[in-house]
Amino acid sequence: MKRRKAFIHTAGFAGISAVAASNLFAADLNKRFGEVIIPPSKEMGKEKHVPIIDAPSEVKAGESFTVTVEVGKKVPHPNTVEHHISMIQLCSLEEDSQYVANVGTFNLGPTLAVPRVTLPVIIQKNSTLYALGYCNIHGIWDYSIEVKVE
Ligand code: FE
Repeated sequence: MKRRKAFIHTAGFAGISAVAASNLFAADLNKRFGEVIIPPSKEMGKEKHVPIIDAPSEVKAGESFTVTVEVGKKVPHPNTVEHHISMIQLCSLEEDSQYVANVGTFNLGPTLAVPRVTLPVIIQKNSTLYALGYCNIHGIWDYSIEVKVE
């Protein structure tokens, strides 16, 4: 409360009313999850956190294909207890659906697990595959590709 009062006092000094200052707080706390996921463009060409998806661009409906998600493909990410990739998730969204589905979620232990997961996947319709990668220091990063069904 002391810090909040100090902020309002400072904001008031800058010519902002206490009501406006409290709205600033509210805006910061109401960010949607999607707004705080870091897009691949932040590391264009030197991807260290982006969970790059490797999958065929065209597959057959109902037939399994291999999907690999790798963090640190271009620039290796640190893999220490203090700084590592601790989660990779793959999701799928069919072209005429509004609901994303979990395909697989992988919890990775530091130093031992390489942040690269491979799994067989089956889709029935054209889909967008989304990957999330979580660095314990630098947050959640995403990537996506489209896979068409022949
Ligand atoms: Fe990191």
